[in-house]
Amino acid sequence: MTVRPMKTKWASCSTSGRLTFDEALIGMPHRLQDYVIVHELLHFRVPNHGKLWKSLMRAHLGEHELIETELKRLGKT
Ligand SMILES: [Zn+2]
Repeated sequence: MTVRPMKTKWASCSTSGRLTFDEALIGMPHRLQDYVIVHELLHFRVPNHGKLWKSLMRAHLGEHELIETELKRLGKT
């Protein structure tokens, strides 16, 4: 796992299992951090943002779309 400044994304995961998180997440509200962490971890099971991924996101975080909107408003996806 790596934490470093990222320009366009909050986090990414590679097929080799490496997770990278944007340094800017440090100090952000926990619900936003949780969203980004759960989002990436689920990609190890589900590589896309399809129905299965969405229902797992909902199971872990509830109204995850609201948090997604909030994060996009901060300028990154
Ligand atoms: Zn994703």
